[in-house]
Amino acid sequence: MKENKFYITTPIYYVNDKPHIGHAYTTVAADVLARYHRLRGDDVHFLTGNDEHGDKVARSAEEAGQEPQAFCDEMSAKYQLTWDRLNIGYDDYIRTTEPRHKEAVQDFLTVLRDKGAIYEGTYEGLYCTGCEKFLTDKELVDGECPDHKKAPEKLSEKNYFFKLGDYLNEVKRQIEKDEIKVGPENIKREVLGLFKQDLQDFSVSRESVKWGIELPFDKSQKTYVWVEALQNYITAIGYKDDQKKFKRYWPADVHLMAKDIIKFHAIFWPAMLLAADLPVPKQIFAHGFFTIDGQKMSKTIGNVIDPNDLVDEYGADATRYLILSQFPFGQDGDIKAEKFAEQYNDQLANNLGNMFSRVMKLGQDVGDGKGESDGRIEKKVNEIWPSFEKAMKDLQIDQGLEAVRTLTDFGNKYIDTNKPWKLKKTDPGKFNVIMLELLEMLRHIAWLVQPFLPETSDKMLEQLGATSDKDLDHDGRKKWREFDAAKMGEGVILFPRI
Ligand SMILES: [Zn+2]
Repeated sequence: MKENKFYITTPIYYVNDKPHIGHAYTTVAADVLARYHRLRGDDVHFLTGNDEHGDKVARSAEEAGQEPQAFCDEMSAKYQLTWDRLNIGYDDYIRTTEPRHKEAVQDFLTVLRDKGAIYEGTYEGLYCTGCEKFLTDKELVDGECPDHKKAPEKLSEKNYFFKLGDYLNEVKRQIEKDEIKVGPENIKREVLGLFKQDLQDFSVSRESVKWGIELPFDKSQKTYVWVEALQNYITAIGYKDDQKKFKRYWPADVHLMAKDIIKFHAIFWPAMLLAADLPVPKQIFAHGFFTIDGQKMSKTIGNVIDPNDLVDEYGADATRYLILSQFPFGQDGDIKAEKFAEQYNDQLANNLGNMFSRVMKLGQDVGDGKGESDGRIEKKVNEIWPSFEKAMKDLQIDQGLEAVRTLTDFGNKYIDTNKPWKLKKTDPGKFNVIMLELLEMLRHIAWLVQPFLPETSDKMLEQLGATSDKDLDHDGRKKWREFDAAKMGEGVILFPRI
């Protein structure tokens, strides 16, 4: 089988903030896609990490009475612990304070400087320390930064600039032609709309910042924090020190993120790559914003959800499910946290969990001799796989989950209609064939839910006596087969009711 590579990234999260459900949403989604591609046999590289430089971090460290590096170490550990608890199977974790990142950033900037894409200038502007960026007049509301409710400071300093203007036409052309596939469609339109605005050359360095990466050609300057942060996608895969790995994985197949940073990823980042004569990412996908129970998530309201609390209450798999199943991936939506317990009971305990228990229990009585099959279960399973695969390839994660739900609903209904517990006495041959098919359906469901619910999937396969499936390739696992009831266990409760 041909092995495709699949390089997927999340943004690297700023250590100023503790991990919350917003970070978890992007990261779980990326993990689901990474796991799906691993199932297909692809050579997956899944990168996440932390963004650790800038004034804001230095200030937070000071407030915490720590050295910046110690502060970053502590915060980054919180992220890594959270991802471990959520079963995030990343292949690499990049921190921008690592030497491998710093050195590669300096190499990349040297290339840009040598190619004439970086020039020296003076920047004067209104700088919001909260945003860590200069704001334009248009962005201000009543003279204040709308996000931080604070008047920006007037700053003027020597900066180095990136000649964005030289690359805009080419970036735009590539987005229009889907050479850089920006999604979903509404985000692509938004991004193309940005080209009509005045997109100016941007600073790649700051003079006043202390906690950052030195510019290789001017030691008085530190690299602007988001400029070096974007480079993590190449520094982590050996841009400087492992050309073989770099050539294997670059360009990225999917940069995943929330839509607030789409401009940096879809316009600025490809422009920098073009300037360095490097390939641009194949796909940039932004998911929407969400509210929590109808309200914007904020510390003031006190509705910021810590994913660790959810794992405490529901376990890793159910948390992953609850986070992703709320609204279509890519759109804005509402996370109904108040209904988590209800959704858990309805959709996991009663639906998937209950069907598994029923089938496992009845399956204990499967005997010899088989009646005629109506073929409906096999047909349904064979229908679900293509729609599931299409959804996953198109990053329609919620649709992938929906496909699984369609199958579990079908299974529960099939059991209700055919009443195998009665057939056991009246028509043992028919009972046997129905149960073997339902058990085989469970085996398929175990594989379908694997990217979403990895622990549950493992439990199911073990109970079904199908762990040796792991030695098969994707096509082998998907193939409908005669279920071997001799190896099955007695069943377990997948999702205890809450
Ligand atoms: Zn601000």
